[in-house]
Amino acid sequence: MSQYAGLAGAGANAALCDLRSDTLTRPDTGMMRAIQAAELGDDVYGEDPQVNRLEAVLAERLGKEAALFLPSGTMSNLAGLLAHCQRGEEIILGAGYHVYAYEAAGASVLGGISLCPVPVRDDGALDPEVIAGAVKADDSHLAVSRLLSLENTHNGLAVPLADMAAAAAAGRTAGLAVHLDGARFFNATVALGCSEAALAGLMDTVSICLSKGLGTPAGSVLAGPADLIAKARRWRKMLGGGMRQAGVLAAAALYALEHNVARLAQDHDRAAELADVLRGLGAGEVSLATNMVFFTPKEGRNDALRMHLASEGVVIGGGSSGAIRMVLHKDVDNGALDRAVQGLKSFYG
Ligand SMILES: *Cc1c(COP(=O)(O)O)cnc(C)c1O
Repeated sequence: MSQYAGLAGAGANAALCDLRSDTLTRPDTGMMRAIQAAELGDDVYGEDPQVNRLEAVLAERLGKEAALFLPSGTMSNLAGLLAHCQRGEEIILGAGYHVYAYEAAGASVLGGISLCPVPVRDDGALDPEVIAGAVKADDSHLAVSRLLSLENTHNGLAVPLADMAAAAAAGRTAGLAVHLDGARFFNATVALGCSEAALAGLMDTVSICLSKGLGTPAGSVLAGPADLIAKARRWRKMLGGGMRQAGVLAAAALYALEHNVARLAQDHDRAAELADVLRGLGAGEVSLATNMVFFTPKEGRNDALRMHLASEGVVIGGGSSGAIRMVLHKDVDNGALDRAVQGLKSFYG
């Protein structure tokens, strides 16, 4: 069953403010125009001008030799991991990271790759000593440690460059390559105020989602050294991710890279505003991380709150208890945010 199934009937399509995820953004007029104007070709033949341009632009921005456009972040991570590792080899990664927790163990299922989860710190980073301690000795009893897989942002937390550098260095000292699941890479760079190449430069490969805060309908990009990207391209074909006139998506991505990166700061500001309102209501625990607010209602009135907000055209996710994640994105403007704020105030007022 889909984790979203319980929301059927909550009026998601008519929602005036949908806070469940930044994947819910829809292409706006400018993006639709860019899609319509796109000159297209067959990307499996390497002939789609938009895809070729997108791959070149992101490789350049991240300071990498090459890049590859894929249908989803899960496939982008998976193709990257399969390019790095052989059967019997191992990936060290955070136990709460998406690659370990939410990608159906694809690297193990399809690649015979072992996943070695380690605890994630409260700030979203992996501890260098923990990484060093997880690396296996060269012993025929053990898996061969090959890759360190990091994540930024993690649950919205932008992990500072120094912590990313320390983790990457611990991996490299042990002879590991380093991959970054940067699904929300640009939320991280915008929040940290660091250059894209500075964060990407710590990594061998970087995967970035275009369909979250950047607002495109679908697609992710994997960037890295030319030889690894060539391997990932073969994996993409094998996984069924070779798309034909994928330029309709790449054109949206090129538009987003120009128009929707710097504006992520607005999402972060609005998330901070929402967190302030929730704290002011004193109705539960609140934590803020870039474009996400996590709210744990005091009396566990999650379902009642969800129904009340839905009646006001505001949609939130989460279960019947525990933290509710509220995600700010391009399609939640000031008016929509105000609706959420009014809905919260009338529920708790
Ligand atoms: C969304 C996400 C992904 C990839 O998800 P897809 O839905 O497959 O695009 C990977 N890692 C993180 C941290 C994510 O948030």
